[in-house]
Amino acid sequence: MKIFNHENSLQELHYRNLMLLGWATIPLALPFSINCFLQGRYITGELSVLLMCLAVSNSLSINLKHRLAVSYWIFFVVNLLTVLFTIIEVGDIGLLWSYPFIFSVFFVQPRYPARIMSGIALVSLISLSAYLLEPATVARFVFTLLMLTVFCDVIVSVLMRMEFKLREQAIRDPLTDAYNRRFMNICLENTIEETRRAFGPACLIQLDVDKFKKVNDRFGHIAGDRVLKKLVELLHKRQRKLDYIFRTGGEEFVLLLRNTSLQQAIALAENLRKNIEETELLEGHTITVSLGVAEYQSGETDDEWLHRADKNLYEAKDNGRNCVRPIK
Ligand code: GH3
Ligand code: MG
Ligand code: MG
Repeated sequence: MKIFNHENSLQELHYRNLMLLGWATIPLALPFSINCFLQGRYITGELSVLLMCLAVSNSLSINLKHRLAVSYWIFFVVNLLTVLFTIIEVGDIGLLWSYPFIFSVFFVQPRYPARIMSGIALVSLISLSAYLLEPATVARFVFTLLMLTVFCDVIVSVLMRMEFKLREQAIRDPLTDAYNRRFMNICLENTIEETRRAFGPACLIQLDVDKFKKVNDRFGHIAGDRVLKKLVELLHKRQRKLDYIFRTGGEEFVLLLRNTSLQQAIALAENLRKNIEETELLEGHTITVSLGVAEYQSGETDDEWLHRADKNLYEAKDNGRNCVRPIK
């Protein structure tokens, strides 16, 4: 399932890296460019100046407009040409520029474009060096460059996995694996924004386990925890593509149904209610839930929307529990 804001923040990270790299290009590439012009190596000199201009214009554009001025592919091609021409002009010593170049590709690009770019770079750099240089030098170059590429790829994948885990921990409830209240607030804001852009109706279902205190008192807290876990597993099984399940309190959950009308949400709530009643979540005891449904009404805040669903839930409790409100 796609999570709100997930991809946006990864994009932010890459933009930030690109911006830092852009500014860093000036002190790093300027002495190189001056040296090229002084030694009469005009092609590499000009390419490196172009590289600096592209990098700096991207940094400025990210700073001011929050988007790239030049695609990273153009930046990559100019960078690759600069390294290739340096090797042509100065020979084996020019190979050293390949290492920071490959590293920068992994540092600023998402993993898959970085793999494609590093593949293109490896083939071009290795072919050129094989054509121009001694076999012993080429062998060492190929080996060390491949090692660097593999290390970069592994480090990036470890960082990505760590980032994903940390992010999941920040938005999920550790007991049931449902999303937490903090993430619910983000999702509700996004859903309200979507309904404003005519994405379709959206509904909330407030779900509360009936007489759960008695379950704990009779079967113990651990058995109670197991019931909550099984309940969320069951909800996840019934989950459609656009649904989100949040644990908002001890035995209280909120389901967010995007692009769903009130009628559809009530039918789904009734279905869930029956399903939970019929499933043996705890041996020797029937677990039931009460549910309150509310469709988003134009102009209301997320708190007002939640409050209406909560009111309906309490109506269901007042009506003897194990039911859905409104009825239709
Ligand atoms: P009602 O039908 O009115 O909702 O009754 P209830 O007993 O479910 O509601 P009440 O709010 O009185 O009690 C909720 C109980 O949920 C109290 C607490 O023992 C239990 N509870 C809350 N969090 C957890 C948890 O994380 N694990 C377990 N096992 N129980 C919890
Ligand atoms: Mg309860
Ligand atoms: Mg409760």
